[in-house]
Amino acid sequence: MNLWQEYKRPASVAEAVQALAHAPGPALPIAGGTDLLLDLKQGRHAPVHTLVDLTSVREMTLLERRGDSLFIGAAVPVNRVALDPLTAAHAQALVEACNLIAGPQVRNTATLGGNVAHARPAADGTIALTALNAEAEVANEEGNRRIPFTALFAGPGKSAIDKTKEIIVGFHVPITNYQPFDAAQGKSPITTASCFKRIMRPQGVALPILNCAVWLAREGESVKDIRIAVGPGGSTPFRATEAETFLRGKPLVEETFNPTLDALLAQAKFRDSARRASADYRRHIVGGLFKDVLYTAWSRAG
Ligand SMILES: Cc1cc2nc3c(=O)[nH]c(=O)nc-3n(C[C@H](O)[C@H](O)[C@H](O)COP(=O)(O)OP(=O)(O)OC[C@H]3O[C@@H](n4cnc5c(N)ncnc54)[C@H](O)[C@@H]3O)c2cc1C
Repeated sequence: MNLWQEYKRPASVAEAVQALAHAPGPALPIAGGTDLLLDLKQGRHAPVHTLVDLTSVREMTLLERRGDSLFIGAAVPVNRVALDPLTAAHAQALVEACNLIAGPQVRNTATLGGNVAHARPAADGTIALTALNAEAEVANEEGNRRIPFTALFAGPGKSAIDKTKEIIVGFHVPITNYQPFDAAQGKSPITTASCFKRIMRPQGVALPILNCAVWLAREGESVKDIRIAVGPGGSTPFRATEAETFLRGKPLVEETFNPTLDALLAQAKFRDSARRASADYRRHIVGGLFKDVLYTAWSRAG
């Protein structure tokens, strides 16, 4: 049985969404194919009529600075995300996440958009983009719109966009510019940094047991602002907003770390996964991982 009947290779976003909307049968976008082709071959996804390959859409292969944000096209392979000087300068957590995805062959093919569109709550690129507070640009036949990153997800493996009609064009990662240090005012400079780490079986085997990304802004010995993401801390990519609220404006010391972790544990709904780890095990080990990621981001910002 053929797993698809037609394979289209559009050159623009408009052509891609038209190819999806006007296909004579079920249609889906494909990028690196590292998830989708396995799903089709192994019967986890029913055969489709049309596959629309996004990797020749120029807009979706760009990685560039646009004003106060970094634009990363959804069809950029994760290996390129990991190696680009712009991501190194402005999105270190994403670089670290993309470097840990699979092995080199998969990283050369797998795209950041595919990592996100597959909607796994612990996908590495997804967790880094959650902490970096990215916005997603989504296109359909009506045009393009920008939505908060977390609005892309409806459940484990369930995207909130209709992939038979819509595509993710790319991600806008904010570059935070604080006022420069003002010696006259005697205030500490505000510096930002991020970090991503994961606990995993040998690399290359697929998703991690647990991953965590933190972005923070540091003002002297205080946490001016912070975003914390943990996968899989829920059925969709999880932001530990209660822990963030607790730590904002406070110094990062042992006395504030412990209640921050308590707030994270109270809010997270860790998932049981048959092949990777139980929810109880994840709950048991998250404190060590979170502390490591948080203090690494803190010292990078110092
Ligand atoms: C051996 C192996 C190891 C792996 N290890 C990891 C790992 O360590 N960490 C991790 O996070 N993942 C891992 N993965 C999963 C996978 O490689 C990544 O999620 C990858 O980034 C998917 O990207 P892709 O371009 O190959 O997506 P595809 O397979 O092309 O597509 C995946 C899904 O997204 C849709 N899609 C793709 N692009 C778009 C778009 N722009 N807009 C809308 N829908 C779109 C497709 O229709 C499909 O439903 C691993 C996979 C393999 C095979």
